[in-house]
Amino acid sequence: MKTIAEQLKSVQITVEQSTLDAHRPLNAVKLLAVSKTKPVSDIVQAYEAGQLLFGENYVQEGVEKIQMLKSYDNIEWHFIGPLQSNKTRLVAENFDWVQAIDRLKIAQRLNDQVTPKKILNVCIQVNIDDDQNKAGISANELDDFAKAISELPNLRLRGLMTIPKANQSQAEQTTSFANMAMLFEELKKQYLSVDTLSMGMSGDMQNAINNGSNMVRVGSAIFGSRK
Ligand SMILES: *Cc1c(COP(=O)(O)O)cnc(C)c1O
Repeated sequence: MKTIAEQLKSVQITVEQSTLDAHRPLNAVKLLAVSKTKPVSDIVQAYEAGQLLFGENYVQEGVEKIQMLKSYDNIEWHFIGPLQSNKTRLVAENFDWVQAIDRLKIAQRLNDQVTPKKILNVCIQVNIDDDQNKAGISANELDDFAKAISELPNLRLRGLMTIPKANQSQAEQTTSFANMAMLFEELKKQYLSVDTLSMGMSGDMQNAINNGSNMVRVGSAIFGSRK
């Protein structure tokens, strides 16, 4: 069985190779290690192998891990799961990023609850395939929604995230990613703070990178499959 450090290394190589294949600069794509459901000891192994960006999906679990790893310097914590309004305070106080913003009310609460002097980085989740089973705003709502988010002083609008529909053909998935890239390029023109297009997971990171992703969120390929 491979160690977490070995699996991390092979994901890094896949990310680099996909980046070069897409004729993009070597460090164009950030790797977010998604550690949901995995023990703190797994995070420590990845950290000791040099990984600093971690993603969590569940508030309670994520906050416990953040508290336990307080003494580990320079970790950047991303909340990537769905967020209910009664849990926003814990997220605002503990995480550095919230990636799946799709309701203004949640964003407003985060803005009000973020620790003074701290800025919370946020991405808007776009439901690019208008999939009934997926969270996210639809593409035609993006302009108005981004404007509202950008007006919240304690949040910094960093970009967009998406999870494409499962079981699409390669061609359909490519279209979804390419549509996201177009939305991202438009948004970047309007907001100086926008620099992040978060798309691609263990199973589709190559295609996402080929279509302009600059942050992939990878769980099982690093930490092994989840129960
Ligand atoms: C779990 C999760 C991931 C990681 O998925 P893997 O297929 O294990 O790489 C990425 N993004 C989100 C939003 C997730 O919930």
